[in-house]
Parts: sequence; structure tokens; C-alpha cells
Amino acid sequence: TRGKLDNQDLWVTGNLIGGEWISASGDALEVDDPFTLEVIAEVPNCGAEETGRAIEAASDAFPGWADRTASERGEILHDWYRLIMENRDDLARIMVLENGKAWSDATSEVEYGAGFLKFFAQEATRMLGEIIPANTPGRRLLATREPVGVCAAITPWNFPLAMLTRKVGPALAAGCTMVAKPAAATPITALAFAKLGQKAGVPDGVFNIVTGDAKAIGGAMTEAFAVRKLSFTGSTGVGVKLYEQCAATMKKTSLELGGNAPFIVFDDADLETAVESAKTAKFRNSGQTCIAANRFLVQAGIHDEFVEAFGKVVGDMQAGDGFEDSSDIGPLIDKDGKDKVEEHRQNALDNGARVVAGGGSGDGRIVHPTLLADVSPDMQISCEETFGPVAAVMKFDTVDEGIRLANDTEFGLASYFCSRNPATIARVGRELEYGMVGVNTGLISTPHAPFGGVKMSGLGREGSHHGIEEYLHVKYLCEAGL
Ligand code: ADP
Repeated sequence: TRGKLDNQDLWVTGNLIGGEWISASGDALEVDDPFTLEVIAEVPNCGAEETGRAIEAASDAFPGWADRTASERGEILHDWYRLIMENRDDLARIMVLENGKAWSDATSEVEYGAGFLKFFAQEATRMLGEIIPANTPGRRLLATREPVGVCAAITPWNFPLAMLTRKVGPALAAGCTMVAKPAAATPITALAFAKLGQKAGVPDGVFNIVTGDAKAIGGAMTEAFAVRKLSFTGSTGVGVKLYEQCAATMKKTSLELGGNAPFIVFDDADLETAVESAKTAKFRNSGQTCIAANRFLVQAGIHDEFVEAFGKVVGDMQAGDGFEDSSDIGPLIDKDGKDKVEEHRQNALDNGARVVAGGGSGDGRIVHPTLLADVSPDMQISCEETFGPVAAVMKFDTVDEGIRLANDTEFGLASYFCSRNPATIARVGRELEYGMVGVNTGLISTPHAPFGGVKMSGLGREGSHHGIEEYLHVKYLCEAGL
């Protein structure tokens, strides 16, 4: 049958609290397949009570975990990484089933997601302290790094594994313990991941996972004093609320929120590079990434050529069942997601945009890859995150205008531009008000580099050595009378 697993044990539908699996009872949460629209599983609909128990378990487990050597924690994370890689295809099948993404996107995500555990397994041993020259003779001044304590993670559905591993990896490497809540649409990948963690030897209570009522779980997580850190990836609206909720107990926060990424093509760009990068930046993961190019700004001298070449590429792409080789992209996650993309497309067409290639919607949650041109900055598609496979091109004249248009948003996550001129590359790279800038590429994410935004796109960085700092605080020791 469709998406049958080699190892059926990975089809996990229980929650993990303090090393115990609890199963769905009463009003369970239904998980559906975005392509067939069939219900494929039920997971527990937990609330504040279960979340409280999970926080307690994480609190109990914290001292023992923090006391282990960094290299012991790293070894467990590395085993977890290895188990994910060994079960790559099964995890990818689960992802296609619950998220809908195309097979190649799913396998790439497993590898990318696993990479965070591998990277932070090593980073665990590099949380160095400092010895500071003393201000007074006979004193020794030390700065050490300590894990912040119990952490909470709330993750979205677009990367069901990677959005979790980029939090779990650094948290556990640092010596923190965690309670995680995956998105309601894609809990099974997260639960399978937890199961592999147990197999890798993650001690009871170090990693806990609850599914269910987002408000109740998020409320319990943010209210609890024992939780010292919240890491959230999702929409800006929810991020702002959670940030407020964390204030009362003064939690450390990492917030990876929405974006409105510009993709600028300057006259001196290499056309082929620009088109290839544009395709990746827009259509990877069916257009459902927070760093997806949302606005193509193309300089007048290359505009027509770019639109024609990109139109050919978009016209050749196909949306369909994620399990079919012929599908470049899958269905969108849910009806709301599809409605939003259709609304943006219609709003653009009503206001003077034209269809260059593709277009229209298919059955269920399928939206066909589409390229629109003659888009303007005030259209919905330019101001809001579309989160789907519709690319929108607008034309500009000067480099100044391109930069101004690109920065004309309250968001600041990813940005992209293509140019072969070193002076343009240096200037535009400096002037873009974004946390990340891709130059002549549409694929920038890796566990080794800092991922995160400025302005309304959030706070903090994930990945790289900066990613582990988010789970540590600095302790200053002033030793006198020595
Ligand atoms: P997306 O558009 O990616 O679904 P959301 O911000 O709605 O963005 O969801 C991201 C995560 O936040 C999901 O796990 C979701 O269940 C959770 N979430 C949504 N609303 C709340 C809330 N009020 N409190 C805590 N978590 C929430």
C-alpha cells in the first residue's frame, strides 16, 4: 500500500512523557494525508495536565543529564543521528503521508534534519569557558557556560523533522532537557523521531513530546517557572503571543517567525544561475518554507529574458502525489493553505498581474506551479507570505530601487539576489536588512550556519555555534582569597 514502512514500529501514535508512552484516549487528534484526504492516524489530544507532567519529568531528568560529560551526551546524539539515517526512507514515507511533500524534498529533509544532531553532537565538546585577567592580585575570574535548564519547543508542520532537530540537537548537547510540541498536522514524524531517540539511549525524561491542544500546551509551557527557555518556529502572530507569555517568568526565547523574502535579479546576473536559484528558492517544499522567495524583483534590462526562462521552468513543473516520481511538488498542507494561495493569485490577477506559465488548482489540495508577472508592491502577494507554489515577478529600474523595494517590509528572515558584479554583491549584501542573504543561490540552510531573522521575523539563531548559545547562560565566578 501507499507509503508502507519497512519498519512498522516507526508508525508511532503515542506521546512520550518521562520515558512512558501514553496513547490516545477519548477525543484524539486526527491526522490526515493531504493528498488522499484520508485520516491516517489518531494521536493524543493532550492539554495542560499532560504538559505539566512532561515538564516535571524533564525537571527530574535535568541534573543527571547536565552532569554527564559533553562527550557522553554527544555520543547519544550521534547514535540518534545514525538511527535517523538508517531509517531515512521510512521517515521520508511518514513525511509524505502526513505532510504531502514530494519524495525528494522528504529525503532531503531527513538528511538535513539529522545533520543538526550530528553537528551539535560535536559542538557539545566546544562550549568553552574563559579565564579573565584579574583586577586584583590573588583573584581568579572565570566565565563558564551552563545549560539553562528545562526547555520547551513548539514546531510547525512544514519541516516536521528538521524544525525539531535544530532545537533538540543544541538543547541536549548543552545539557538541557526538553518538552516538545509538534504541529497537529504532522505529529507522526516527530513521534517516530522520539522513538529513535529512546533507541539511541536518550534517558527517560530528557526528551518528552506531547501532542494536542496548542493553546493549552503552549500556555502550560510558558506559565511554568521550571521551563527556562522557549524555542518556537511558526507564524509571527503566535510568536508575539508566546513572547508575551514568556515575560512573566523571564524565559530565554528563540523565535523563528514569518518572512517575506525578496529575490532580486540584477541586470548583470547570470541568467541560468538566476533561474535555477529562483526555482529552488520558490518551489522547494511546495513553496511552504519560511525562507521561500515571496517577491521576485527583476531589473529592467534582464526582466523579459528572466521571465521567459523562468516561465519555461515553471511550466514544466508538476504538482501531484508526493510518492510519484513525476511530482516536483505535492499538495498543500490544508484547505486554509490552499485558499490563501488562491486568494493571493486572484488578488494579483484582479489588480493587473498576468499569468506567464502554469496556473490554476487541481483536486484536493493541489495548486499548480504558477508564474505571474507585472506584479506590484501593494498586491497581497507582495505584502503577505504566500506559502505556496505561485511566484510573483515585479520589475524595477535602478539598484537603489531594487534594494528599497526589497527592504520595504516589516519582516527580515531570508533574502536572495543574483549578480556577477563584485561591487554590487558587496553593497547589496550589506544593505539588505535580513538575517540571511543568499547570493547566486536559492539554497542556503545548513546545520553549520546561523539561521534566523531580524525585525518581525524573530529573535535568536539556530544552527552553527550560535545555535547552542541559545541554550546556555554565562556564569561568572570571581574567586578571591586564594
Ligand atoms: P503555521 O502557519 O506554521 O501553522 P502557527 O504559528 O500557527 O504557524 O503554528 C506553529 C506551531 O505553533 C504549531 O505547533 C501550532 O500548533 C502552534 N501554535 C499555534 N497557536 C498556538 C498558541 N496559541 N500557543 C502555542 N502554540 C501555538
